[in-house]
Amino acid sequence: MIIDVDIDGVLAKCVESINIFYNRLKGTTFRKEDYFTMLFEEVWKITKDETRAIITRFFEEGHYPFISVEDGSQLVIQQLSRKHSMHVVSSRHNYSVQQTLRWLQKYFPDCFSGFHFTDYEKATTKQRIHRDLNCGLVLEDDLSATLQAATLGIKVLLFDQPWNQKPYQSNGLVHRVKGWQEAEAYLKQRGLIC
Ligand SMILES: [Mg+2]
Repeated sequence: MIIDVDIDGVLAKCVESINIFYNRLKGTTFRKEDYFTMLFEEVWKITKDETRAIITRFFEEGHYPFISVEDGSQLVIQQLSRKHSMHVVSSRHNYSVQQTLRWLQKYFPDCFSGFHFTDYEKATTKQRIHRDLNCGLVLEDDLSATLQAATLGIKVLLFDQPWNQKPYQSNGLVHRVKGWQEAEAYLKQRGLIC
């Protein structure tokens, strides 16, 4: 099976790292639970341009390589990669691709055979990649990308995060998991890992 895997919020604790960076920079006390959306400007109550500048600074100051890996993700991805063709499908910016590839090689060595970065375009871009790859399962934390994949008839494991709590109409293909332990149980139950 082809399995498409998102990075931030699934493999990488990106919001946590950006949050620490922002709090240090601005003297604020935001917590992970405050991120009800991935549109950081709505959480921080600043402009889009200011937000873009903060994220660029986060990259330029070299924080990407130090983003922590999501607990339990490495073992399950390794197991999946023995039986399936694994692709990374992420909306990360083009400028961060080299650092991201190094990060992936550090935590998930040789697990992925394809790397697709959409440079923060719309979720429909991810949807097109899933369709073109003929993917059978998506691992995501973004609600919009999840529902877009599900409309193609693709099963999605939706990783529970504060920013994906909006109510939604599911066609039965979306399965929410609290973390990698639950994901592992789901995948085992369906024979996708041993
Ligand atoms: Mg994500």
